Amino acid sequence: MPESPVAQQAEQMTNDAGGFPAQRQEPPGSTKQMDPVPDHGEDTYEGSGKLEGLRAVVTGGDSGIGRAVAIAFAREGADVVLSYLPEEQEDAEDTAEWIRKAGRTAVLCPGDIMQESTCQEIIDKTVQELGGLDILVNNAGAQWARDSGLEDMSTERMDRIFKTNLYALMWLTKAALPHLGKGASIINVSSIQAYDPSPSLLDYAATKAAINNFTVNLAAQVGERGIRVNAVAPGPIWTPLQPATKEAESMEKFGADTPLGRAGQPAELAGAFVFLASPKDASYVSGTVVGVTGGKPVF
Ligand code: NAD
Ligand code: MG
Repeated sequence: MPESPVAQQAEQMTNDAGGFPAQRQEPPGSTKQMDPVPDHGEDTYEGSGKLEGLRAVVTGGDSGIGRAVAIAFAREGADVVLSYLPEEQEDAEDTAEWIRKAGRTAVLCPGDIMQESTCQEIIDKTVQELGGLDILVNNAGAQWARDSGLEDMSTERMDRIFKTNLYALMWLTKAALPHLGKGASIINVSSIQAYDPSPSLLDYAATKAAINNFTVNLAAQVGERGIRVNAVAPGPIWTPLQPATKEAESMEKFGADTPLGRAGQPAELAGAFVFLASPKDASYVSGTVVGVTGGKPVF
């Protein structure tokens, strides 16, 4: 059976150990500085009208998984609002360009989602410019793996990780809910860390476990309104987050410990998000977590 071009390219991008050259960036990281530059499906993703006319917000949509989701959603017929940090303007503009090339509207929303007011502004701007909202993808996330144990963990770090990964997700969801109708959906981004936590990501892993719990519970709360709530739990994926928050040498084996023996590319996540967002294909799918982990268990 012929292997998919995306998987083939993903394999070619990794070294013999399944990882990448040692490299380091500072947060939030930039796509162009990555070696190799990740594959977001620019040359491969083919849409088939699964999200025709829908309106989506993708937080962290400038780069990595968020960029792959934005490109796929646009090619499936959706207009997309991108939320990101102001210093990621260049990445955001590149993603917006792909959305426009797909014939869809891109709306840019720079701002720090650790502020509740920014989260409200993102939703307000979406409704103003696109006339409503159908899909909220809570994808933005922060982690830090360059310090040692809990004794060295500053409150500033804990605030940053919990506010970005959990508070912002709840603020955005709270602001979005009044605009979501029957068939709308929320997709949260969890992690393999919720199931198989690394000691160096103590706080991050806890936020991802909380996101799973929140996903299932919110699905129960809003189910009677016809709104679906799901999560995607990625394994190791080649995005700016990794070289921007971990030690340079750890990139050499990044992803090598998965059953498939390599890291995934952002493009390999797109199908899971499109499925969950599709009111037709996933009409009875809610309160679940879809793993895209290269074979690591998500239970
Ligand atoms: P990424 O760096 O491309 O995306 C993360 C994005 O979060 C950034 O682009 C940034 O725009 C956004 N962000 C962070 N702090 C923010 C803030 N204060 N205000 C506004 N935006 C902010 O990396 P990615 O790996 O694509 O990350 C996307 C999601 O995937 C995250 O939730 C991450 O935890 C999750 N995830 C990633 C991996 C992986 O291996 N890359 C694995 C599991 C889960
Ligand atoms: Mg980014």
